[in-house]
Amino acid sequence: MKYLKFLIALLLLSPAAFAQMPKYVVVISIDGLRPEFYKDPSWGAVNLRQLAENGMYADGVRGDMPTVTYPSHTTIITGKFPAKHGIYYNTPFETKAQVGELGYTDSRRITTETIWDAAHKKGLRTASVLWPVSVNQSSIDYNMPDAPRNTKLADPLQPFRQYSKPAGLFEEMEKNATGKLYNHDLDGHLSTDDNLARMASYLIETYKPNLITIHLVCVDHYSHMEGRLGLDVRKAVEGIDHNIGRIIEATVRAGTTDSTAFIIVGDHGFVNITTQLAPNVELAKAGLVGKNLQEDNWKAQFFQQGGSTFLYLKDKNDKKTLKQVREIVDNLPVGIKALFKIIERPELDKFGVDPNVPFALAAIPGISFTNATEGDIVRAGSGGTHGHFPDFPEIETGFVASGCGLAKQKIIHQMGLENIAPLINALLKLDMKDMDGALYPGLLAPQK
Ligand SMILES: [Zn+2]
Repeated sequence: MKYLKFLIALLLLSPAAFAQMPKYVVVISIDGLRPEFYKDPSWGAVNLRQLAENGMYADGVRGDMPTVTYPSHTTIITGKFPAKHGIYYNTPFETKAQVGELGYTDSRRITTETIWDAAHKKGLRTASVLWPVSVNQSSIDYNMPDAPRNTKLADPLQPFRQYSKPAGLFEEMEKNATGKLYNHDLDGHLSTDDNLARMASYLIETYKPNLITIHLVCVDHYSHMEGRLGLDVRKAVEGIDHNIGRIIEATVRAGTTDSTAFIIVGDHGFVNITTQLAPNVELAKAGLVGKNLQEDNWKAQFFQQGGSTFLYLKDKNDKKTLKQVREIVDNLPVGIKALFKIIERPELDKFGVDPNVPFALAAIPGISFTNATEGDIVRAGSGGTHGHFPDFPEIETGFVASGCGLAKQKIIHQMGLENIAPLINALLKLDMKDMDGALYPGLLAPQK
């Protein structure tokens, strides 16, 4: 009896003890997702709003530093910051020879466990469509990875064909899901998301993966071109919303809707840009970097990621050059210094930023960086970008989740990208360990 009481007490303490947990988790990433897409009805994202109303949404999700696509997506699937997962930027700071054909698209560069690995270890079936850093990912059973298109080839989609897995999956998609695919079908325009969602729907209906990760891209594409409020951005949001509806419908046809948790994530917000800064111009004037960054004659250079830029020293221990760069930055005119802030190493450590960088510059909203070594240090900019330090609302991304195993009618004020993998870990009862993020309280359905 005593033992029984103990057991009951233990079960009461565990919030998910009696809640039905999902057999399937569908993770959809909207590149450049902003919370207003689901909080403001004028964006027309009815499917997103329905998911948010039936389940939960976040007022804002704080991103990685830098707030760019590849590190952020890797944080989503590992629960860790870049210093632990190894994907520091969208492109590595390496020579062309070191980067190779695949760069950071190669999943073997991820230095830690992913949710795909953890799901696979549990014997679950996994699938993915265009998720960043997923080429050569051995734990995805059905993978249409984000391989780099090569417009120099007669068929620029050849890398997609080559790296899709199992062999022939790309052709299977063309036959059963999309029709024949050409470069313009996957180059970031509106029809790209239609094709990606058709692929995801086909995988859900045909193979019923327990975990599928899907990356939809055209909101980011148009936000770069037009800024936050471009009409094409609105079209892209409506298009993505339509495709979320398409993917939900696929679970209905697969008979899995009631046992599926739908998780909608993003990687960063967007900032309208009026001005660009080129700090390498000052380093070039001081003889610390050559005019041509491809050449090897440099001691220090800034490496831009949109709204932030990262100092690299050729010799990490070159204190003299570091001091010189710092003086150059400190002696810039007050009007230029007002356009960015210096992020020191202790703060970079908090966000798990590339350990090779002694300090970074983070632009204020409206400003982005260029690597240029010639011309004016301040120049005109346009459109939108991201990459800024994640400490102001416009750069925040969003989160919506609904379905089996998830709490209802919950509003999260603010969470971090590193809190998403712990949620998937709990929903699928995986065994991921040592994540930087924790399970955000109250996201799981209460016990019955
Ligand atoms: Zn992105």
